[in-house]
Amino acid sequence: MTTKRDKQQIIVLGAGYAGLLAALRLAPHAHVTLVDPADRFTERVRQHELVARPATNDLPLASLLRGTGVRHLPRRVTALDPLARKITTDDGQLLDYDCLVYALGSRTAVPTGVPSVRSAPRQSAGSPLTGELAPLETADASPRSEPAAPQVFTAETTPALCTLTRDRSGFLAVVGGGLTGIELAAELAESRPAWDVRLLTAGELAVGHSTRGRDHVRRVLTALGVRIEEGHTVADPLDVDADAVVWAAAMVPHTAVAAEAGLALDPASGRVAVDASLRSISHPEIYAVGDAAAAHSSRAGSLRMGCAAALPTGSHAATAIIAELRGRAPERLDFGYRLQCVSLGRRDGLVQFVRHDDSPRDRVLTGRTAAWAKERIVRSTVSVMGLARRAPDTIGRLPGF
Ligand SMILES: Cc1cc2nc3c(=O)[nH]c(=O)nc-3n(C[C@H](O)[C@H](O)[C@H](O)COP(=O)(O)OP(=O)(O)OC[C@H]3O[C@@H](n4cnc5c(N)ncnc54)[C@H](O)[C@@H]3O)c2cc1C
Repeated sequence: MTTKRDKQQIIVLGAGYAGLLAALRLAPHAHVTLVDPADRFTERVRQHELVARPATNDLPLASLLRGTGVRHLPRRVTALDPLARKITTDDGQLLDYDCLVYALGSRTAVPTGVPSVRSAPRQSAGSPLTGELAPLETADASPRSEPAAPQVFTAETTPALCTLTRDRSGFLAVVGGGLTGIELAAELAESRPAWDVRLLTAGELAVGHSTRGRDHVRRVLTALGVRIEEGHTVADPLDVDADAVVWAAAMVPHTAVAAEAGLALDPASGRVAVDASLRSISHPEIYAVGDAAAAHSSRAGSLRMGCAAALPTGSHAATAIIAELRGRAPERLDFGYRLQCVSLGRRDGLVQFVRHDDSPRDRVLTGRTAAWAKERIVRSTVSVMGLARRAPDTIGRLPGF
């Protein structure tokens, strides 16, 4: 272990799956500051569950960090100066670092100019449909937000969607046939039978799954009453004939801070370009992990955005930094996919077994068994954080980490 005198200053930006795990693992080896405006850790993989019930999918960061020595700074990072090795936060603080972990994650990409609903409901005298919902964010400014236009939601605003759909009926369209769109459509159809739910997707539904997997998704959605419209391209959610549109068509990485700082980005994905050890290819003292990083491994190839890669990359960056602190070269990321898990409401699901490169095998689990397995896997992500808090050095020895 590094002696106290030698300890370096490490800043971790973002307390999602990747950043939090990296911070916990690094805590015994360095002075770690975790920068995130939230004082709670959000389980994003449960975000779709909030359309059905006003529940919480977050845990206090203070309890996850208790006893670790990690300092949480509840601020937003606004700038990064790699030459001076400093960050700036939204209250003007400047913080020095020796090494930085960039883990700012991603968000739903909503087309420019489309007003989307705020996540926190509040009083509104506006649309007859919205009741106590927040008005559209740019309603006053935008000529496109006539009363007839649908309200637009995303995975980030599911609590507001929960409020909207409770005790009412109407027409709802989910746009996006990937895993987030499928999970949202299933959850809505199951919990809101008074609503007519459509799932619109430009291509095929559940691309990347086996024929058996896709057939199961189609069967369950249809049984729940979802009308699936494949080959339906939507350029603008406001053009969709519905009372509410849930936009789940694309995710974008939070890399504006990296781009402004001059970090090299992967041109195809806009994520931070990293080497095999997850170091920025332009600034090797900066590691990038999770959705914000264009990570790759020899077994998996390019890693897609997902919790499945966020935890292993967060853990690997910590292993690599610890190796560097000990004067050793950081190891290459050795990651391979094993499963894709999809919720289909609370009583059904799909576990798709995949090869290391994420291509589907024929084998799937379906029904309640799959729903149970998915719940166990989701819970295990929080258990890993608990273990990392209590015994950080054991995480690197877990399979897949
Ligand atoms: C509905 C839904 C279901 C999903 N289901 C699955 C699934 O089943 N399996 C799977 O593998 N993946 C799933 N995902 C994807 C998964 O949630 C993400 O890939 C994962 O959360 C990425 O982790 P991360 O740590 O990179 O980033 P995030 O979890 O996005 O965390 C980023 C953190 O950075 C913070 N941050 C952002 N900007 C700033 C700033 N300027 N300053 C400071 N902090 C900042 C945020 O507050 C956040 O805490 C799902 C996503 C959604 C939305």
